[in-house]
Amino acid sequence: MATLTGTMFQPEQEAMDRRRLKELQGERLVALVGRLKDTGSAYWEAKLAGVEPGSIRGIDDLRSLPFTIKSDLRDCFPFGMLAVPLAGTVRVHASSGTRGKPTVVAYTAADIDLFAQVNARAIAAAGGRREDVLHIAYGYGLFTGGLGLHYGGERLGATVVPASGGNPGFQVQLMADLGANGLACTPSFALLLAERAEADGLKDRIRKHLRYGVFGAEPWSEAFRSKIERAWDGLEAHDIYGLSEVIGPGVAAECREGRGSLHVFEDHFYPEVVDEHGEPVAPGVPGELVLTTLTKEAQPVIRYRTGDITSFVDAPCRCGRTSRRITRFAGRVDDMLVIRGTNIYPSEIEAVLLDDHRVSGQYQIILDRRSALPELVVRAELAAPVGPDERAQLLRSLAVALKERLRLRVEVLIGDPGSLLRQETGKAKRVWEVTSADDPLVALLPK
Ligand SMILES: [Zn+2]
Repeated sequence: MATLTGTMFQPEQEAMDRRRLKELQGERLVALVGRLKDTGSAYWEAKLAGVEPGSIRGIDDLRSLPFTIKSDLRDCFPFGMLAVPLAGTVRVHASSGTRGKPTVVAYTAADIDLFAQVNARAIAAAGGRREDVLHIAYGYGLFTGGLGLHYGGERLGATVVPASGGNPGFQVQLMADLGANGLACTPSFALLLAERAEADGLKDRIRKHLRYGVFGAEPWSEAFRSKIERAWDGLEAHDIYGLSEVIGPGVAAECREGRGSLHVFEDHFYPEVVDEHGEPVAPGVPGELVLTTLTKEAQPVIRYRTGDITSFVDAPCRCGRTSRRITRFAGRVDDMLVIRGTNIYPSEIEAVLLDDHRVSGQYQIILDRRSALPELVVRAELAAPVGPDERAQLLRSLAVALKERLRLRVEVLIGDPGSLLRQETGKAKRVWEVTSADDPLVALLPK
C-alpha cells in the first residue's frame, strides 16, 4: 500500500504492524501504571489500590483495571487527577459545565505536542496537505476544538487561519479572499457557512479552492454529511472524534478511503467497546466506547467511559492504516431520549429529516413533558419555498417516515426557509425539553 501512505502524517506509527502495535501498547500501559502508582496523589492511590505491582504485564491486563467515569473528573475539580505537579503543566482546557462545575483538563508540554501530532494525522487523513490554507472555525479558548485543530494544522505545515466561531459573513469573505482549501468546524456551522456563502454570492469563489472539511464535536449522520457536501458542492466532509477528558479532538479520525468509520490513534488512545455491564462486546456489536490514554502525562485516564455509542469495524482499511476503526457515532448514552418506553437517539430523527432534500439542515426536537405522557415534536425547516399542497404532502410524508423509524407518533411542524434560529458558536443544541406551562417554547408547540 506504499502509494497510499503519502496521505499519512506519521506512516511509521499509523501503519505499524499490529503485533508490534500490541507490544507497544503493553509497554506503554505497564509504564503508565507504574508511574501512576508513584504519583503520591490521593486519587491515583485510591484508584489503583487493588492493583499489585507486576500484575499488569501487557495490554490484555487492562481489563483488570477499574473504569473511570465523568463524575470522577468533577469530584476531583480542579486538579485532583493530576499525575504531575501543577508546575509541570503548560495549559488547561475545560468542558462546559452543563451540570454544575466544568471539568478541567491539564496538559504538559509533551501532551500538547501529542495533541498537535494526532490532529495533524486527522487533517492529513481528511486529505489535508502542508501547502494548504486551513480555515479553523471551531471556538478558540477553553474548548479544545479551536486550539487542537490549530496546532494540528501548523504541525502538518498548513497555513492556519484562526477564525474561531461566530461572524459567518466575515468568515466566508475570509475563506474566499485567502483561498481556504480546508475547513475545520462543527458540522452545523459548516452548513451555516455554506448558506451564508451562497447568500453573499461567494460560493463559487470559495469552491474553487475548498476541498475538504474536518468536522466534529457534534454527532452527525450520513444524511447530514450529504447535506453539507451538496451545499458546498465539491467538498469532502470528514468526521473527527475526541473529547476533552481524553485530550480533545484527534482521538480518532475518518480517512478518505474508509468513510463511515474512524481510525482510533490507538498507539496513544486504547479503545474498548463495552455493554451496559462493562463487558466487552463482539466486533460489530454496538456498545459504549471506553478509552485509556497510554502516553498522556498530566492527566491520564484509565478505562474512561465516554458515553458515546459505537462498534468496532475489523476489516483492514484500504488506506493502509492498521489502527482499529470504530463506526461513526449513533449518539451518546446521555443523549438518548426515553419517550413512552421507547429509546430514541436524536440522530435517528436527523437521518429521517435530512433524507428529504426539501428539508434544510436546521431542526429542533422538542420533548413536551407537560403531561404524564410526553409528546415528541419536531420542528423542521424548508430548504427552499414550496406551494401549500407540496408543504402539506411533505408534512405527511415526514410524519409517516418518523413513525416508521421510531415506532412512535411524532408531531411535525415545518417552517419557511431561514425561520429556525441559527447558532453561530459552540455545539448546536438540537433537543429541548418543555416541562411547564410558562416555558417560552410552549408558544411554538402545536395547540
Ligand atoms: Zn483508512
